[in-house]
Amino acid sequence: MFFAGTAGSVPTPRRGLPALLLRAGGDRILLDCGEGTQQQLLRSIGLPELDAIFITHYHLDHWLGIVGMLKTFDLRARERTLDVYGPPGLKGLFHNLKPLIGRTFYPLNVHELEPHGEVRFGGYVIASFPVKHRVDAYGYAFIEDDRPGRFDVEEARRLGVTEGPDFGRLQRGETVNGVSPEQVVGPARHGRRIVYTGDTSPVQTVEVYAHKAEVLVHEATFLEDDRARARETGHSTARQAALAAQAAEVKLLALTHLSTRYFPRDIRDEARAVFEHTIVARDFEAIDVPFPERGEPRVIKPEPEPRDQ
Ligand SMILES: [Zn+2]
Ligand SMILES: [Zn+2]
Repeated sequence: MFFAGTAGSVPTPRRGLPALLLRAGGDRILLDCGEGTQQQLLRSIGLPELDAIFITHYHLDHWLGIVGMLKTFDLRARERTLDVYGPPGLKGLFHNLKPLIGRTFYPLNVHELEPHGEVRFGGYVIASFPVKHRVDAYGYAFIEDDRPGRFDVEEARRLGVTEGPDFGRLQRGETVNGVSPEQVVGPARHGRRIVYTGDTSPVQTVEVYAHKAEVLVHEATFLEDDRARARETGHSTARQAALAAQAAEVKLLALTHLSTRYFPRDIRDEARAVFEHTIVARDFEAIDVPFPERGEPRVIKPEPEPRDQ
C-alpha cells in the first residue's frame, strides 16, 4: 500500500489530501481521492490504471480529485472499465458532476454500497463498514481469502502416499489409501487484512473489522488536548486511534489525516504511549505487507527526490 496523501482538510507543501493506493496482485485500488491525488501519484510512482476507487464520504477533501483523474484517464485513451464505490449519495454526486466530467470513452460504473457491503476481487474482498462522522461515512477493509494449510510432504511420503496426483487429491480434501487430509494438511492460514478508517470518531466497527489486521490506517486529526473538538467534528485523537489499534490487536498502526496544527512527532508520541507499533504516515511512503509467516509489515521510505515528470 502506498500513501499518496496524508493531510486532513487542507493540503500543505509536504502533505496532499487523503488518498491511499492498495496494490494487490495486479490490481490497483484507490481509497479516497482528495484534490491533487493525480499529481501526487505522478510525482511519485506514476498514475496507474486504477481498477476501482472507494470513497469513504463526501467531504470535499476526500473526493474532489476524482474529477481531474477521470478526465486524465479519458485523455490517455483508457479502455478498461473503472468502478467507483461509496456510501449512498454517490450516484447523486456523479449526476451533479456530469457537466464537468462529460462522457468518458471507457465504461464508468458507479456503485452505492450497503453499510456492511462487500466487493469481491480475485483472492480478496473490499468490505465497507459504517463509521462515526458528521455525515454518513464508511471505512474499508481489505480482507484476503484464507489460504489452504501447509502440505507436509515428508509426512505424506512416510504414510506411503506417492508423489503426484495423490498429493493433489489430499490437498483438495480427499482421502487417499486410508490417509486423510487432516493427517498431512495443516489448518487453513488466515489471509492478510488491511483496514482504512477514513474520518471517524472512536467507533466499535473499526475494532471489529480491524481485529488482528496486519495494518490499521487510522485518522488522527487531533491530540488529546483538543479532544472536545475532535468529538464535535467527528474525528479522533492520536490516543484514541492507538486505543483502537490496541483493542483490535493489529500489527501496525499508521496514522493519517494530519492537521497542520501539530508536529507529527507529537502525534506519534501520544499514540506510542498507548500502542508501540505506530507510525505517522508520510506522503509517498509505502507499507509492504508480507504473508504473516514471512515477517512483519515493513515501512518503505520515499526516495529523497520525487521523480520529475
Ligand atoms: Zn477529511
Ligand atoms: Zn470528513
